[in-house]
Parts: sequence; C-alpha cells; structure tokens
Amino acid sequence: MVDEFERARRVIPGGVNSPVRAFKGVGGTPIFFEHGAGSRVTDTSGKSYIDYVGSWGPLIAGHGHPAVVKGIQEQAANGTSFGAPCRIETDLAERVCERVPGCERVRFVSSGTEATMSAIRLARGATGRDELIKIEGCYHGHVDSLLVQAGSGVLTLGLPGSPGIPAPLAELTHVVPFNDADAVERVLKDRGDRVAALIVEPIAGNMGVIPPAPGYLERLRELTAEHGVTLIFDEVMTGFRVHRGGAQGRFGIEPDLSCFGKVIGGGLPVGAYGGRADVMEQIAPGGPVYQAGTLSGNPLAMRAGFETLGLLDDDAYRELERLSARLQDGLRQAAESAGIEATSNRVGSMMTTFFRGGEITNYADATASDTDRYARFFHGMLERGVYLAPSQFEAAFVSLAHSDDDIDATVSAAAETLATL
Ligand code: PMP
Repeated sequence: MVDEFERARRVIPGGVNSPVRAFKGVGGTPIFFEHGAGSRVTDTSGKSYIDYVGSWGPLIAGHGHPAVVKGIQEQAANGTSFGAPCRIETDLAERVCERVPGCERVRFVSSGTEATMSAIRLARGATGRDELIKIEGCYHGHVDSLLVQAGSGVLTLGLPGSPGIPAPLAELTHVVPFNDADAVERVLKDRGDRVAALIVEPIAGNMGVIPPAPGYLERLRELTAEHGVTLIFDEVMTGFRVHRGGAQGRFGIEPDLSCFGKVIGGGLPVGAYGGRADVMEQIAPGGPVYQAGTLSGNPLAMRAGFETLGLLDDDAYRELERLSARLQDGLRQAAESAGIEATSNRVGSMMTTFFRGGEITNYADATASDTDRYARFFHGMLERGVYLAPSQFEAAFVSLAHSDDDIDATVSAAAETLATL
C-alpha cells in the first residue's frame, strides 16, 4: 500500500497544510481520511472513527448533512464564483446580523485569520492607534501582530512565537493572562491612549477550553469602553457553536467587533468580521480602511453557511447541550474510576479533558497538564475508533450528528483506555 504521508511529505512541507494535523503533539503519523458521514470519518484503510474534531469546529451538523450538501450542489450547478455581488451573500449576512447582538454589518472573507487580521486593521484605522492587547494562550490565526504567545499549533509545537514577524510589530502587542482583568487595567492605565484594540476569545478554545470567569468579560467591556479601546471578540470557534448568538449571545455582552469562521461556513472556507454600523462603514469602499478578496462571499461557501445556520434553532442547541453534558459526565466518571487526575472544562458543545487535577483557568494552568498522558489517551482512543484532536490544547466538538450510542461507545472506549494509563 502507498504510504500516503511519505508521498505527501515529498511535495508538501511536513506533509500537511496546517501544522497541528502532523500529530507532533501526540507522536505517530497522521491518518488520511477518505470519507465523512454524520458523526463518523473513515480512513484510507477503511477504518471508521467517531469524530470529535469535526474539521476543528465547522461541522456542527456533522459530515455531509443532506441540507448542506444539497445547497452546495444546487449552487455549484448555478456557478461557483462570480466575483460580483450575489443574493446568497446578503441572505447569510442577514442570518448573521439577526442572530449576533453586536453585528449590524458583516463583511465576509475566506478564513478566520483573514477575519481577525481585518478586524485589527479596522480597529487601528478607526482609532488612529497602533498598540494591541492580546491574551496569553489565545489563538487568532497566523496574523503577524497576533502570533505572540499564541495557543493552538504554536502552543502544541512549543514555539514562543514565529520567526518572520518583525520585532517592532510584535512589540506593539501587549500580552496578559486570561481571566485577569486587573492585568488589562494595568496596561490601559499606562498606555490606554495608544491601544487600538483588545482581542480575546470570549471562551478560550486554543489552550484547551477555558470558560471566562464570572465578571471577566463584563470588566473587559467596561475597561475598553473607558479607554476608547475597540473590544474584539474572536468568535471564530464560539460563534454559532455555544449559542445562536455566539458567546456574546450566551453571556449578554456586546463587543465593538466580532470575528467568525468555522461554523459560519458549514465546512467551506468562510470567515467574517462584523460590528456596529458606524465602525464597519469605515471599511472600503464606504471608508478609508482597505480590505478585499477575490473569493470573498463565494457563493458555494455562503450557501453552506446559510444552510448550516438554518439548522441551528433552539432545539438544536438544547440537543448539543444534552449530548455534550452526557459525554462530559461519562468521561469524568471514567477518569475517576481509573484513578486518573483529570479536569474537564466544557461550554456547550466544546470541551477539553485536561490531564491534571484542580481548576484550569488560564494558560499556566493548562500548560501544567500531563501531555504525555494525553498522547497515550489519544492513541488508545484512536485504536478504539474515536478520533480526538491530536493535541491536549484543543477542543473536542460534539455535533448534531452524534447519537447517544456514539456517546456511550466513546465513554466505554475512554474507560478502557484510561484503565491502561
Ligand atoms: N481564531 C480562533 C479563535 C480560532 O480558533 C482559529 C482557528 N482555529 C482562528 C482564529 C483562525 O482561523 P483559520 O484557521 O480559519 O484561519
């Protein structure tokens, strides 16, 4: 049989098009997938797995949901790209603005990275300031100014940042711990009139899942408002995942700008940034802040997002909550029975089981987890037909396609695996 990874490595750096896929966080070589249906993925050898990666979050309706597939097929038959306005862009924009409290206008791009990059540029352009505040362990895509003490792959690979980012640019970014509003207050006291934006994952997902402490987001809202700093919620992971209005809908806090990705494209490449009309209208062509894209608002991608959001009604979120709570309880009990120290954090259908005891409230807590044990857990689950993220510092995502049987099978696999650790 052809070694697919070897073949890929001859033509693709590291054999992958995004670093975490390479399994460096858990050892071994990546699996090549051939097929996805509902809650399951099948690899090139024909082995099937219950999938909790869900393409890293977009597939909240599972693989190949009939409504999404039909929508894409219909649109493909009508043209795959125009580079000119089409109705489906407005249809999806209306769906987003209807749901997200802080969005009066939304601009579509093609990835989460593009969304955060553009939101930062807009915040800098609108305020006339250059400095940023970001949170340690949060990941906002591979944007130069934001790739400083970031989470996700940078954390998995143990990198402090990245070469290729000019020091004067990185120096404009102040980094503070998650769930520490006092640290934000200190930076703003000192440099408040120079800070354009504070960007935060309202529920951290890229150092594993860490919920905001009660009152944290409220204080960020107050402090940024006081200093004229643009508050940006990066809802690339949480948007339409934890509530129909994202984390801001769930917690009732309106940022100035919001970034989206993942679920908003239903598995096709979409990102978006949105916010108050007066801020968003400063983007070209209405305003001077430039941002553009050949494939932005691509009709295939818009249709996949439109159909996906259409599936996400109140019942859908209730079902996601129910299934996810069952999974969390099952995993907790399995760890307890095996006598393994673990802490499970969950908000809605995103969760992480950290291999350490005690509360996990920030980057320092998360990175004190036993990543070797996670690696063994990951491989044990994989052998038993459960595909988790190949890193301790990522979320597991439950989808509408997961069944109670999937959850039961996952918990049994976990109980067996944990007993061997
Ligand atoms: N922001 C957050 C919170 C993310 O989780 C991610 C991707 N995991 C991004 C931004 C970047 O999105 P993309 O990979 O689509 O560029």
